[in-house]
Amino acid sequence: MNIAIDGPVGSGKSSIADLVAAKLGILHLDTGAMYRAYALHVLRSGADLTDGEAIARAGESADVRVQYADGAQKTMLGEEDVTGLIRTGEVSLAASAVSKWPAVRRRMVAAQRELAKTADMLIDGRDIGTNVLPDAPVKIFLTATAEERARRRYVQQMEKGDNTPYETVLAELNQRDRQDMSRETDPLRQAEDAVLLDTTNMTIDEVVAAIVGIVEDVYGKQ
Ligand code: C5P
Repeated sequence: MNIAIDGPVGSGKSSIADLVAAKLGILHLDTGAMYRAYALHVLRSGADLTDGEAIARAGESADVRVQYADGAQKTMLGEEDVTGLIRTGEVSLAASAVSKWPAVRRRMVAAQRELAKTADMLIDGRDIGTNVLPDAPVKIFLTATAEERARRRYVQQMEKGDNTPYETVLAELNQRDRQDMSRETDPLRQAEDAVLLDTTNMTIDEVVAAIVGIVEDVYGKQ
């Protein structure tokens, strides 16, 4: 089983994907975490984030891996578990900056395709339905207005003790959306055969139920 979920920053992909995967009893691969781990490695190397060749060079030694412990994804750089280190604003923007380079994408996409073969999986990202798994039987494109996505992100960050103002969260989100949609290689866009779910006025439970319903239409009741 392969389920592809794409969408912009803060569309709820990751949290919703976790809930849907748990309901279906399958694994969730968060591909953004892989770009984030790669970006962390590049940041640590001190490479210039606007220089594609420097990023590719710094990334040659980036051993990004994904493991699962009790069904939860652990994102690794070699033997180091970086799961808890890759959610900062700095790493978010760096992930968006490094992910535009074709050499970086080639490696991440190849790794994602290999992972997708190993188990029934729900995979979320930006280019899963369009590029990583163009033949996925279920494709969902999640979206919501930028203001609503920023509001959700803001509340989430406040709960974690991060007091970044709403305006900054919205500006960062718009910057990442722009970078992700305008890059030449595998830009964020809805696959032609993806189902569009605008979650602006939906609760998490409603979104989860809608996606499970779409999966059951294709794969039968799980
Ligand atoms: O999904 P998340 O916000 O964690 O992803 C971080 C960044 O990684 C995105 O802003 C995007 O630039 C990049 N990304 C990507 N392709 C994917 C997943 C994430 O380019 N499949």
